[in-house]
Amino acid sequence: MTAPAVVIEGGYAVIRLPGAARDELAASLAPCPCVAAKSTATAEARQWLLDALSDPPVRVPLHEIHGLRVALADCPCRGPQPGNTIRHRLSAALGKVRA
Ligand SMILES: [Zn+2]
Repeated sequence: MTAPAVVIEGGYAVIRLPGAARDELAASLAPCPCVAAKSTATAEARQWLLDALSDPPVRVPLHEIHGLRVALADCPCRGPQPGNTIRHRLSAALGKVRA
């Protein structure tokens, strides 16, 4: 499995994903159909990422990294998830970069 590559460039965290990982991530960003309360902020962050994925590389302003990582967390209805999903891997990669 390929890890997303995240580097700091010019005040942004720049995410590069192989095509297959990009497709996997895009699919995983679909809203969970459950009735659990959804955060508007995380829904907006996921939609932003989805839009950004269509025009790679994705550039995340450094102050948005935390919010994006929150948005990459799984819906609570899913319970414990394996730690190797594309969302986990991207969140981990974003957590390693330092402004
Ligand atoms: Zn859910």
